[in-house]
Amino acid sequence: MGRLLGRLFVGGTLFLITFIGYSSQIFIIWPWYGSVLSVELLALLIPFNALLGMLLWNYYLVVVTDPGRVPNNWQPDFQSEDGYEVKKLTRGPRFCRTCENYKPPRAHHCRQCKRCVLRMDHHCPWVNNCVGHFNYGHFIRFLFYVDIACTYHLAMVTKRVLHASNGRFWDEPSFLELIFIILNYTFCIPVLLAVGGFSIYHFNALRNNTTTIEGWEKDKVATLVRRGKIQEIKFPYHIGVRKNIAAVLGDSAWLWCWPGPPQGNGLKYPLADPSDPRAESWPPKDPNALPPDDPNHTLTLPSSPWTYENGALNPYLQPNGMVRRASSSRRGKKAHGHISSVPPYHPDYRPPGDDDTFSDSPGSVGSITDDEDAPSNPRSFVRRGSEGYEVRPINRENMLRQHVLEQVHEPGRYNVYVPETPESSSTSEEEEEELPLASRVERWRKEAAV
Ligand SMILES: [Zn+2]
Ligand SMILES: [Zn+2]
Repeated sequence: MGRLLGRLFVGGTLFLITFIGYSSQIFIIWPWYGSVLSVELLALLIPFNALLGMLLWNYYLVVVTDPGRVPNNWQPDFQSEDGYEVKKLTRGPRFCRTCENYKPPRAHHCRQCKRCVLRMDHHCPWVNNCVGHFNYGHFIRFLFYVDIACTYHLAMVTKRVLHASNGRFWDEPSFLELIFIILNYTFCIPVLLAVGGFSIYHFNALRNNTTTIEGWEKDKVATLVRRGKIQEIKFPYHIGVRKNIAAVLGDSAWLWCWPGPPQGNGLKYPLADPSDPRAESWPPKDPNALPPDDPNHTLTLPSSPWTYENGALNPYLQPNGMVRRASSSRRGKKAHGHISSVPPYHPDYRPPGDDDTFSDSPGSVGSITDDEDAPSNPRSFVRRGSEGYEVRPINRENMLRQHVLEQVHEPGRYNVYVPETPESSSTSEEEEEELPLASRVERWRKEAAV
């Protein structure tokens, strides 16, 4: 976020706070009490101004307090034995590649602040600052005072409105008062609803010692556990509600609403169960996730996009339907006068012009494209469409027999021995039947003479 835009946000927030806080007192409450200082007026306004003062003070503290930065050349304490996160470093210390420095537990890099922030919660545009270890307490108190002050403000203005409905003419608000009553409601109700919802989330996070980022991490871990990828793991920083709140708002519960520093230096955090080695590596990683970034890794692309693993073609790569159709139509054009290199009984034999679209292989079941060619083509194919099976009438066995016979009767190819039968020793009966009877009788006479 730009520097100017950030300041505009802070200016806008301050305007909203001061408008709601002071216009209500000057233009609504003061005239209502007859513009005269009285004990009743002071009794009403002093608590409100105290709340307003605390609200503004905490807002100021959230804006100006550094949320916590990682000291230069900070390193995890590898030898520490007091139960802190980085004791055993089961998966290596956390490292920020942008800052080129180690990251303490719970610290995260903020892109807006361009640095790592200790116990980072979120970057808040309304305060133009990150909310982290050193100003999270101020932030929580600010939310608390906004909730209380807005409620007090609404009660005060509503009391004024109810008072006007008594029917006494001197209690009627003037036009200016009416305008400010409407404006105060218009600003205050949305603020209370929005900040109230946000407060409920953050008070719960405070109770569980969880930052906003850790809340997301918890959701991610819950998903991994639900999918059976990792074992259930307890959030390691939940050390009991009382201790969780004290870690942020200070040791003494009497001073939780009073601005004060948090516990610790933001570089180490006590764990709920220091003996659990998994607690030291929060958040647990997805076992199927890609390996962590290697700072020395350089991206190299394969020489061809059509390669598979070690450079070979993907064995499962299949041409899509259009490519197959295109290639089959090309083959169809070439099929005129095509002579197969293998005989029809060969397993690889394909009738001329046959294509993959019409085959009896189960892979093409359901393909009914190019159907218009069927009437002009004397061949028929096996295919299965919505109407059922259509059976190819070509019998390959007959084709084989015919082929063999053709080979056998090819002149000069084989010497075929045909045994002579008594009937066929002279002339065949068919021949005889073709001759006229008179000629046959003449022939029999000659034979008898011989
Ligand atoms: Zn960083
Ligand atoms: Zn930030």
